[in-house]
Amino acid sequence: MCGIIGYIGQKEAYPIILAGLERMEYRGYDSSGICTSDNQQLFLKKDIGRVEHLKKTTLPGNKGIGHTRWATHGGVLQKNAHPFIINNTFTLIHNGIIENHLELKEQLRKTINPQFTSDTDSEVILHL
Ligand code: GLU
Repeated sequence: MCGIIGYIGQKEAYPIILAGLERMEYRGYDSSGICTSDNQQLFLKKDIGRVEHLKKTTLPGNKGIGHTRWATHGGVLQKNAHPFIINNTFTLIHNGIIENHLELKEQLRKTINPQFTSDTDSEVILHL
């Protein structure tokens, strides 16, 4: 089962989100990631495997989101880990399954034809 945590406030977001993800590790997951913002740009760190890898770095900003993934659509690969970012303006994490993601992807291909960077169902939300 995946885990989601978000923070916005006065403190550095990264260590708070990291601590939250560690508390949710018991739920099980295959990848993990964090996206933060300093109001100028988005910063991203994600990979397969344990939250441990997120301890090797930090990201700036006092807001952010974090995710532990339990893959349902798309293999356990770095490109399929959450969060996802588009145009340095919008970031997404998602828990669950989008059952009509193939139909939605097909609709998007016929209209804005976005560049999909993952094999997940989740990424379709980003482009919608
Ligand atoms: N369906 C999404 C994926 O495979 C989310 C999985 C989850 O809930 O962690 O990336």
